[in-house]
Amino acid sequence: MVNPATEELITTVPATSAAGVDAAVRRAAAAQARWAALAPGDRARLLRRFATTVDAHREELAQLEVAEAGHPVGNARWEAGNVRDLLDYAAGGVERLTGQQIPVSGGVNLTFREPLGTVAVIAPWNFPMPVAAWGTAPALAAGNAVLLKPAETTPLTALRLAGLALAAGLPEGLFQVLPGSGAGTGRALVDHPGVAKVVFTGSTATGREVMARCAAQIKAVTLELGGKSPNIVFADADIERAAAAAPGSFLDNTGQDCCARSRILVQRQVYDRFLELLEPAVHAFTCGDPTDPGTAMGPLVSAAQRTRVRGYVPEDAPAAIRGTAPKGKGYWYPATVLEREPADRVAVEEVFGPVAVVLPFTDEADAVRLANATPYGLSGSIWTRDTGRALRLAQSVAAGNLSVNSHASVRYWTPFGGYKHSGLGRELGPGALAAFTETKNVFLDTQDPEHPQEQP
Ligand code: NDP
Repeated sequence: MVNPATEELITTVPATSAAGVDAAVRRAAAAQARWAALAPGDRARLLRRFATTVDAHREELAQLEVAEAGHPVGNARWEAGNVRDLLDYAAGGVERLTGQQIPVSGGVNLTFREPLGTVAVIAPWNFPMPVAAWGTAPALAAGNAVLLKPAETTPLTALRLAGLALAAGLPEGLFQVLPGSGAGTGRALVDHPGVAKVVFTGSTATGREVMARCAAQIKAVTLELGGKSPNIVFADADIERAAAAAPGSFLDNTGQDCCARSRILVQRQVYDRFLELLEPAVHAFTCGDPTDPGTAMGPLVSAAQRTRVRGYVPEDAPAAIRGTAPKGKGYWYPATVLEREPADRVAVEEVFGPVAVVLPFTDEADAVRLANATPYGLSGSIWTRDTGRALRLAQSVAAGNLSVNSHASVRYWTPFGGYKHSGLGRELGPGALAAFTETKNVFLDTQDPEHPQEQP
């Protein structure tokens, strides 16, 4: 593992072999049977204890995230707290995971929610802690075992979380972290017949492969994939507020965010004014040492990711706005705002770096057309003072998570997921636990054989 701000080697972590995956699946199956048999209140109590243990180690987890992913320390502290909250929220669901009683004639019809068994969570490097917990917390709460494969570049927080789970009293084998490559450990997990569901977050290309492999075994799969989300600014919006908020929406996490609003669509009559206001706001989003609490943006996660971003936009390419970044060691890349044609590659594909394209639009119909002109459909923002227009737009943009006069789109208690090539299924929110269950329907004949029910 390499610190992306310094390029120093932090440590090395051995990869899990196919035989290691197989042994982990067997341990998970044994632990899951015991876990599912526990009283719901006991499962909930253990998950709450896990949350409390994470809370007690928040600073340690945050420092690991700063070191291996280059996240600014303030963000990393929030992320560790988010894991705690996800566990707490999931714990609250254990005793509320109810079935139904459906009216039928001649008896009683009941549904039960049964755990799936063992769930594989394949996490990316951009938000190693929260995304790992999105799948892990509800899957455990619903009575499953979890095998978590972190990204090869960022396994350290995941490994620490597994240690904290054991310290909190979760049974051995119930939550295991299997570091290794996608092509090796990842594929072995997806293909293993002892894994009942795969929760994948990452690129659309890899998601497509994971889904095809799951299809071969009729295995359940959730995909959280890429995005190229619009930030739509109408002339009737509070332009000052919209411009002040825009940098955070595509520079947070150095743009390595599936929800990044990397296409800024601005109504033509306020286009120049918006750019004027955006420039100082971008410069104020300071890029530098992630251990400094005043830093807003750290380095890119790896040399490979910087090469990828440079492949879209070389650092000397013409730009409307370009921020500053440290020179020397570290995978630095400055905040960059481009004016390009709507069909340009950089305006349509996911760059996953601190790069946004600004495009003018004429009216509502033009805004919707541009917003929907990518294969993705994850998030988006709409800035307007007209609430009717806000709702019309929210209903017309094909994306799973939209915000009005805001860029907030991920909360652990609201559903999250994508349309089109941005994904399949939903995570988080009130339905999170149910997504890790099978529904069983049972009919009980209650008729008295002496007095059978009259048929109409
Ligand atoms: P990937 O989609 O390849 O990686 C995501 C996760 O999947 C990692 O844990 C990876 O492991 C694993 N993986 C890779 N191949 C397989 C496979 N065949 N079977 C099972 N698991 C696999 O993303 P990259 O890291 O290659 O990033 C490339 C681009 O993808 C980024 O630039 C960005 O555009 C996009 N991306 C989007 C994310 C999102 O949140 N939507 C997150 C990450 C990337 P390992 O890393 O160990 O190889």
